[in-house]
Amino acid sequence: MTAPTLTEKLAILADAAKYDASCASSGGVKRKAGPGGIGSVTGSGICHSYAPDGRCISLLKILLTNHCIYDCLYCVNRSSSNVARARFTPEEVADLTMGFYKRNYIEGLFLSSGIIRSPDYTMEQLVRTAKLLREQHLFCGYIHLKTIPEADPALVEQAGVYADRLSFNIELPREGSFSQLAPQKNAPAIRRAMGGLRQTLDRAKQERASRHAPAFAATGQSTQVIVGADGAHDAEIMRASAGLYASYDLRRVYYSAFSPIPDSSAGLPSRKAPLMREHRLYQADWLYRFYDFSVDEIEASTDNGMFDLTIDPKTAWALRHRDRFPVDVNAAPRETLLRVPGLGVRSVDAILRNRRTGRLRIADVGKLARSLRSLRHFVVTDDWRPRALETSDLRARIEPKPRQMDLFG
Ligand code: SF4
Repeated sequence: MTAPTLTEKLAILADAAKYDASCASSGGVKRKAGPGGIGSVTGSGICHSYAPDGRCISLLKILLTNHCIYDCLYCVNRSSSNVARARFTPEEVADLTMGFYKRNYIEGLFLSSGIIRSPDYTMEQLVRTAKLLREQHLFCGYIHLKTIPEADPALVEQAGVYADRLSFNIELPREGSFSQLAPQKNAPAIRRAMGGLRQTLDRAKQERASRHAPAFAATGQSTQVIVGADGAHDAEIMRASAGLYASYDLRRVYYSAFSPIPDSSAGLPSRKAPLMREHRLYQADWLYRFYDFSVDEIEASTDNGMFDLTIDPKTAWALRHRDRFPVDVNAAPRETLLRVPGLGVRSVDAILRNRRTGRLRIADVGKLARSLRSLRHFVVTDDWRPRALETSDLRARIEPKPRQMDLFG
């Protein structure tokens, strides 16, 4: 059998990486480009292109290899999977990245890998790739390295010198699922690795504050949770995420809807998790991080732990707490305004700014928010008082019209 060409390898290893959702670069800092340096990370983030399913597409997102000595049942790259295999050398990945970057196809690299030989060996290869890009090609663009939890922490530290972001995938929200679905993985080891990285990141931040120390994984660490592979319901996943944010100061938890893979185990669902479920988790995650919702409140917007696929979690919560509405947009504090369906952080801040100079009418609120469609049922102004708040058909009135049904499939 002839060895695969570079193009064939790229096809295999880009396809193998598509299940990894964690590829946003928000919060990156500019690397100092010395003579001949190329590429930049903008403060507002470079991942500004998204596929219709919400995944970022402006990074070269590949695996170093899809060979893997582990056998995680939910993974298409597991050792027992019957898929075409390929492997890049670090030099090939560095050349590809630079070639694509210069042709303006991509703005950075997201690199993950199956485990080859050992976690340390794999991690060395990942570090070597990033080092080549930074030191040989003088690449200053965004690099996100997926790190191997069982690898020597010293290697993870080296990775942070070259990468803008590091991430360990926790993958299974239920610790008890590991022995059944990912027998070679060890949940406590992943958590230890995340804890170790948090300490290093904290230390690096302090050093940078006191002197001109080099950047270390400036955009922090993130993780990914697979939705629907084990039996964890949405509220359980959100509770796990809240614990991860609190314990490891994560920048993001990414949610990836489980897709059945060829020859999958009977222990896994045979149907794809709805993409809308993934979307609802992102919305709930947003409520937790930016809208001061507690995990208990988020859970209170679910039915038996599952988010409603028809309406967003904030609206679901408001419908169950109608006694808290309507909210007076001219008097309510920020935290109360943030609870109003249809008002985002920016609209709330605009309302607070604008009401300093005069009382807002409902039309003014409409201009500051994206739409009055559901919002008008939950707010009161001098010229507007909702009538339908107590009626049983309120939900039907504010439910979005069916569209993009594929999100539910
Ligand atoms: S270690 Fe990663 S690549 Fe290997 S089987 Fe598990 S999830 Fe897949």
